[in-house]
Amino acid sequence: MSEEKPAVLVVEDEESIRRGVCDVLAFQGYAPTGVGTGEEGLLEALTGRYALLVLDLMLPGMSGYDVCDGVRQKLPAQPILMLTARGSEEDILEGFKHGADDYVTKPFSVSEFVARVKALMRRAGGTAPAETIDTFEFAGWQVDVAAARARHGDTRIDLTPRELAIMALFHREAGRIVSRRMLLHDIWGFENPEKIETRTVDMQIGKLRKKLDRGAGSQIETVRGAGYRYGSV
Ligand code: CA
Repeated sequence: MSEEKPAVLVVEDEESIRRGVCDVLAFQGYAPTGVGTGEEGLLEALTGRYALLVLDLMLPGMSGYDVCDGVRQKLPAQPILMLTARGSEEDILEGFKHGADDYVTKPFSVSEFVARVKALMRRAGGTAPAETIDTFEFAGWQVDVAAARARHGDTRIDLTPRELAIMALFHREAGRIVSRRMLLHDIWGFENPEKIETRTVDMQIGKLRKKLDRGAGSQIETVRGAGYRYGSV
């Protein structure tokens, strides 16, 4: 058993948080490296040896957005998890614009942070978990995964595999912003979604909404400039 631990770079100027995050990552079987400035973070990230970049957006000097830009230019497929302050949705939207993949808002619980790290690593590894659930509820619809069908009262609709996958993703991420980048990666399987026309996503979501509107509404909200959100926050 000599499997190498995935290296994770943590860029965070607040020492207590940086240490805490590194400790959690080490405990979870990753090999964390912590740095306190954006400049160091960018230099380190560009070595390309990190499986994941955990990036605080609010850094003195070079900001997390700048780091994101610099990393994306050279390493378009680098998974980036951004840390933002609670309640600053604008930061999250801005982070997505700069190419972040996912986010955690501070203060966060250990379990919340670990869940986001694992989800992002799974996606990056191209091993998105097969949905093992048989049925789930979505916007008032009872979704039968095996039958690829949903029921709302007496109304029944058939679902394509892609629609099922999108609904399962939104269901899993309920209340959170799902970026187009994440959708293109998870649902369409694009390695480097940055370069892909995002209208594909919007058209697909539009079709799905129409179908779901035959029930009690789709509950899929557009988050301008970033992506979508299903369900209440
Ligand atoms: Ca900070």
